[in-house]
Amino acid sequence: MNLQVRRLFYIVTGKLKTPKGRKNIRAVLFDIDGTLVRFNGAGKRALKKAAIEVYGTAGMMDAVHFQGKTDPLIIYESLEPVGINRETIDRKMGRLKESHFFHLDHQIKGAEAELLPGVRELLDLLKNSPAVITGLLTGNFHGGALRKLNVFGLMDYFAFGVFSDDTPHRDEMPPIARERIMELYSMEIDFVDMFIIGDTVYDIRCGKNSGAVTIAVGTGWTDPQALLNEEPDYYFDDLSDTEMMAEILLG
Ligand SMILES: [Mg+2]
Repeated sequence: MNLQVRRLFYIVTGKLKTPKGRKNIRAVLFDIDGTLVRFNGAGKRALKKAAIEVYGTAGMMDAVHFQGKTDPLIIYESLEPVGINRETIDRKMGRLKESHFFHLDHQIKGAEAELLPGVRELLDLLKNSPAVITGLLTGNFHGGALRKLNVFGLMDYFAFGVFSDDTPHRDEMPPIARERIMELYSMEIDFVDMFIIGDTVYDIRCGKNSGAVTIAVGTGWTDPQALLNEEPDYYFDDLSDTEMMAEILLG
């Protein structure tokens, strides 16, 4: 079945509908921290406590920049310089996750949780748009993503996600998203129909490397100029202009 026929098949069977005048189903993929929500360092504190518990040290974690990096990459960069090798780290990664989730539950409760401007309105818009598949593309472990999004009841907005359980390398995530959409919907998404929304240079780079459309947002911790230097397709201070987002994502 070629691509066009396959699309038509799914349009006819009604699993996904393409509005008049629009050819392709689109995938809109969100980063979490600094893009949808902020937790005032809760994730970082939880990961540090977990590393100390499981590996006996957080190593260089205080010096490692967290933004845009996956949780396992942060662990590698923190612990390898103090002599803990990757094999040892990976062997205990399951325990690290468990401990991280335990501490995250506690840290999130005490943190000033912030749902970023326009996020719910935008997610509602996408939810009501049958030609859009909304997903996550995040450096969080799946369990961490769940915990953070559940604080605001956001998890149901997402049909699927790519998490750092899948790969520690963000650049590998867009192709994994494509595979996952194929598994779920038997549908091939072109990268030009994939939108990656994130708050760091790494979100922009991973999108551009795959040929996806990149939308940078200034609600994280990165200087807007640094984001603009990466030449994303779009930049917004925040996601509150729902009308403009609709034009870009659905237009
Ligand atoms: Mg982020």
